[in-house]
Amino acid sequence: MQKGIGVSPGVVVGVAFRVESVLGSSEPKTLENPAEIPAEIAFFDRAVEEAAAELESLVQRVAQELGSSAAEIFQTHLQILNDPVLLSKVHSHIEKQSLTALSALQVVMQSYAAQFARIEQDYFRERLNDVRDVISRVGSHLTRKKPVVSSSNGATESHDGEEPVILVAHEILPSQAMSLGELAIAGIVTEVGGSTSHAAILARSRGIPAVSGVEGIMNEVASGDLMVVDGREGHVIVRPDHEATMAYRKVQREFFHLKECLISNRDEPARSLDGTRVELLANINNVADAHAANSVGASGVGLFRTEYLFLTHHDVPGEEEQYEYYRQIVLNAPGQTVTIRTLDLGGDKTVPYLGRRSEPNPFMGWRSIRIFFENPKMLITQIRAILRAGMSGKVSMLFPMITTLEELRKINKMVKETKGNLRREGVPFAEDVKTGVMVEVPAAAFCIDALLRETDFISIGSNDLIQYLVAADRDNPKVAHLCEPLSPAIFRVLQMVLDACGRTGTPVTLCGEMAGQPRSALILFGMGLRRFSMSPAFVPTVKNLLAGVTTAQAERFAHHVLQLSTSDEIRSYLTARLREISSTLEILDSV
Ligand code: PEP
Ligand code: MG
Repeated sequence: MQKGIGVSPGVVVGVAFRVESVLGSSEPKTLENPAEIPAEIAFFDRAVEEAAAELESLVQRVAQELGSSAAEIFQTHLQILNDPVLLSKVHSHIEKQSLTALSALQVVMQSYAAQFARIEQDYFRERLNDVRDVISRVGSHLTRKKPVVSSSNGATESHDGEEPVILVAHEILPSQAMSLGELAIAGIVTEVGGSTSHAAILARSRGIPAVSGVEGIMNEVASGDLMVVDGREGHVIVRPDHEATMAYRKVQREFFHLKECLISNRDEPARSLDGTRVELLANINNVADAHAANSVGASGVGLFRTEYLFLTHHDVPGEEEQYEYYRQIVLNAPGQTVTIRTLDLGGDKTVPYLGRRSEPNPFMGWRSIRIFFENPKMLITQIRAILRAGMSGKVSMLFPMITTLEELRKINKMVKETKGNLRREGVPFAEDVKTGVMVEVPAAAFCIDALLRETDFISIGSNDLIQYLVAADRDNPKVAHLCEPLSPAIFRVLQMVLDACGRTGTPVTLCGEMAGQPRSALILFGMGLRRFSMSPAFVPTVKNLLAGVTTAQAERFAHHVLQLSTSDEIRSYLTARLREISSTLEILDSV
């Protein structure tokens, strides 16, 4: 059994499919027939040409949007890409060893890494990062053409197609997440990444179990191996024995059965046993998620994370493209109601066109709104696209990572000026787009009263609020135990924010992961929260849970929880309450 972090609940037994990464350390693959060598070289050369064209357009776009110094990094990448030594090394590995283009690239990357490992200076280490970027860019062109999922030995899988498929990868990149969209996947396991990695986002939006941070799993598993993924406990078992297989298959059946039963509540109103209405909204990343939100009966979109568009894009998407993308989201969202969050890059989510700066503490660093105060043009473009998309439905705009009142004032001023410009230009946009603040930095939570005077609504980003409150990186498996939502400190801070919103009558949503977890959702309801935003897959669960509890009961639970002093006490208290309300829902909660 291998331990990781459970990032999407549920249990599945299935066969492993390895997702080979360009930069991964898997065994090199050879071509089946040496006659394929010329075609493979041509295939590689085409990928290089495409990567070069992409870099050239990046240089132009970035220079336009962010200035020429920001574009320098891509000039450097172009030089690396045009380096005849690099290209001839790859050619030679294909020719002399019959390696596939992807494997040849991997071998070259590994040899560079080995050479650079002996060098101490930071300057050269940075150059290795540039080489890595360039190689992965070429590699992504190669993998975009060939199927992303392949078995470790290149052979066709022998399993009978009955078993669910579990993806096993070092990491799932945004470009891969896009192409995986069409595959029937029943579970995901990755070596790196935490609850906000692409793998986790993909898994949650599809409601399939996933475990991240399983170190060394790529060395343990071959495609075709049977494995168990337990997204509740955060562990995986490779080649389980008969007994374990049977036991987990039973849990898996219960999980599927429960999900099927729950989804039948799609058209029922979301309310507690005594009739208190709640809004169950969806967190989405793309149009497919908007469809998923519709199919589970979410009443709107409480959080549309716009990063996905930027992360899967090779350069800065322009205003028209963003506008069209947001418009499609609005048209496909339940009730055409969407809260669009402005770009929240940085931390773990980086895009090449903002330049790769290594920071010792990326989550505490140049992140989110902080980047865009420095590059206002990019934020203004996004604000324009959002205001315009507001013509297609009920749109509101949400600002992440607000830390101070000064920041809020700055951004409110930008919105006001942008509206003025659109008006002057005669561009149609929605005047009534409301603006809101994400409360996810403790400073914002503690000064909530001041923020409430200058904003229309609040959305609590508990994922970040927790990590900043406990000073533990939410994606670092070593300290993940501290990022525990069921903890006294978190509930106290949440109560403070909810009370302040209640006093001023400000609409408040909670859009972090805890909104979709049965035990925490129960307490949040008892604390007065009425708007929950979560991965679409969790909507039926929370609807079912709240339908089984009265408001007074939940308030009593919340009151009791706020008296407890440790996470263990809170967890066992809530587990017992959850069991009383619905013993079956426990399987859908993460630990
Ligand atoms: C959060 O921080 O809780 C949140 C919803 O935003 P993200 O997970 O995208 O940072
Ligand atoms: Mg956040």
